[in-house]
Amino acid sequence: MPTCLPLVLRRCHTCASERFRANGKFRVNANHKLIDAWLLVLCTGCGETAKLTVFERMNVRCVRPELLDRLHDNDLGLAAELLQDPVVRRRNRIALDWAGAWRLDTGGSDHLDREVIDIAVRFAARIPVRPVRLIAEGCGLSRAEVERLIREGNLVSGVRLSGKLSDGFTFTLKR
Ligand SMILES: [Zn+2]
Repeated sequence: MPTCLPLVLRRCHTCASERFRANGKFRVNANHKLIDAWLLVLCTGCGETAKLTVFERMNVRCVRPELLDRLHDNDLGLAAELLQDPVVRRRNRIALDWAGAWRLDTGGSDHLDREVIDIAVRFAARIPVRPVRLIAEGCGLSRAEVERLIREGNLVSGVRLSGKLSDGFTFTLKR
C-alpha cells in the first residue's frame, strides 16, 4: 500500500534534475465556458514548478462538480489518483518513482510456520514491485532463498515471479 505520493520522473528544464514531487496543489483556469486544470509538481532539485495536465479546454458543464470541488480543495487524494491514472501519465509523458513510497502489510506472520501456505497478494495501488522482494519480506526469507524455492518448485504461482508486477497474484509456498 502507498505511504506517500510517488515521485514524478520528468526532466527539469532549469536544473536537469529528473524528479518532481506533487504536494496536492492544483491550478484551475476558467475562461468563459472552457476550463483547464493542472496538477502542480515541484522539482526536487531546484523547486521549479511544472504543470501536469489533468484536462484542457473542457466545457465546464462536462466536468463533474465533485471533481471541481476536489481540484479547488487541493485534494491530496485526488493527486494520488491522477498520478496512478495511466491516461494522465501518458498525456504528460511521465513515469513514477515508487521507491520508499509504499509498504508491505502482511497482517502478521502466525501462519508462516505451516508446511504449505497459499498467499494472496493484493495491491492497494498499481505499484510495480518485484514479487521476489515482496515474498522475501513477507515470509521472512532472503531473496536468494526465495529464488531457490522457485527453482526447486516449492514456490509456485500462476504468474511469472521474475521481473516486476503491479497486479494482485497468489502463490503457494511449500517447506
Ligand atoms: Zn530543477
